[in-house]
Amino acid sequence: MSDESQELGITESKSHKPGEWYAEVVQKANLADYAPMGGFIVTKPRGYALWEAIQDALDGWFKETGVDNVYFPMFIPESFLEREKDIVEGFDPEVAWVTHGGHEELEERLAVRPTSESIIAPFMADWTRSHRDLPLRLNQWCSVVRWEATETKPFFRTKEFMWQEGHTAHADDAGAWEEVWTRLSQYERVYEDVLAIPVLRGKKPEHDKFPGADTTTTVEALMPDGKSVQGATSHNLGQSFAEAFDITFSGEDEEDRTAYTTSWGLSWRAIGALIMTHSDDQGLVLPPTVAPTQVAIVPIWQEDTKEDVLEYSENIAEELEDAGFRVELDDRDERNPGFKFNEHELNGVPLRLEIGPYEVEDEEVTLVHRPDNEEAVEDRDEIVDAVDEHLDDIFDKLYDAAEENLEENVREAYSPEEILGTIGKHGGYVKTSWCGDEACEEAIKEKIAAEIVMQPLEDEGGTTAAEVPEPEHDECGVCGEPADEIAYFAKSY
Ligand code: AMP
Repeated sequence: MSDESQELGITESKSHKPGEWYAEVVQKANLADYAPMGGFIVTKPRGYALWEAIQDALDGWFKETGVDNVYFPMFIPESFLEREKDIVEGFDPEVAWVTHGGHEELEERLAVRPTSESIIAPFMADWTRSHRDLPLRLNQWCSVVRWEATETKPFFRTKEFMWQEGHTAHADDAGAWEEVWTRLSQYERVYEDVLAIPVLRGKKPEHDKFPGADTTTTVEALMPDGKSVQGATSHNLGQSFAEAFDITFSGEDEEDRTAYTTSWGLSWRAIGALIMTHSDDQGLVLPPTVAPTQVAIVPIWQEDTKEDVLEYSENIAEELEDAGFRVELDDRDERNPGFKFNEHELNGVPLRLEIGPYEVEDEEVTLVHRPDNEEAVEDRDEIVDAVDEHLDDIFDKLYDAAEENLEENVREAYSPEEILGTIGKHGGYVKTSWCGDEACEEAIKEKIAAEIVMQPLEDEGGTTAAEVPEPEHDECGVCGEPADEIAYFAKSY
């Protein structure tokens, strides 16, 4: 490797220093930069392309399932925020406030939205008159601001982050539950089918619910360093927001009723999970589903073969583009093939095509998989089908590796020593029985910074809170008191 490519390349190790490695990959693969204000990032074109890939998938599914996009102001008057007390208390330490417009002090402070229930709900109340107006399903793609004190980690945790927030109102509890499951399933699908990351579905414990929610459901992804990421949340808000903001409607019997609402959000943390899950010490690794460039073609020539090699490569590039693949023909004169290989590796291009005089002569193409350098030689004539199959293989490789990591890292433990020892040694999830007392979670958290990241879900088919699986032990894994809940402990991002 030349000095120059060494500088370009990743110097930190994923297994030894995951934090430093992650920051280096984000910057060197040109996804994002740090902004001058602590806690904020600048998203670069290649990073934003990943967000757009997620957005395209989810937005399509939302629209297929009755959701309309809207846009509300980024500011929320303080008096609106105060109408739902749990929201005020829950977000109070993290709200950024606008107090002045130019030199004038405002009569009422404006909150920069940490989430938009308090500005959207009053309009949902206006727009809901009769049962015929329900269900009402709105979504907005925007950014929110939460002044969190914790350390910035691009995409995982920033003070301003991009997300979508869905807000819906329903005539009954059953409608709200169905909505919660629909969105949770779409989040699961975006992780599994688009990002190649298997997830666990669960709910948050009572004390960790979204402020004002009846139930917060979540999809959790396990990172290779053994920490869990809350991938997205879907909340059943019951009637608390509808009551606070008067979302009422006249039923078929002309009686006035209070609606049931939900909200659900997925942020660009999904990009963080994507980078962390698949990438390696050579740089970014992306599944073909989201990669801005799926195929890099690197022609390898000497002066006397240049013309033939380039023409052959151009034809292949054109054919692949026509077939709908995202292709880059890297015919830069000033760089040698080795440099190009390294750069496409760093940038996470899933499949590299190497074309030299031998390939031209034999009417073949050499293909190299980014994740593991597996090489194959395919017929020139079959190149479109071959690329299609190899890209599918690469997706499967990434998914299978992530699935193996998840399956190997859910363990059971039924005493504090065992819980602490298991998480300390392996990371991952520790499943235990739990009495429901937050103090038991605290006892573990104090010692090892692991918390209850999720609990098994109630029957999703049903409309009422139905059967929860019985814990296998009837004593709490922490305090030994009678337990009728199951909890998954993990360290988390
Ligand atoms: P919440 O409204 O708190 O349920 O959060 C919705 C989603 O946003 C969650 O699934 C989180 O993954 C994500 N999220 C929360 N805080 C941040 C943050 N500081 N940076 C990026 N994503 C976040």
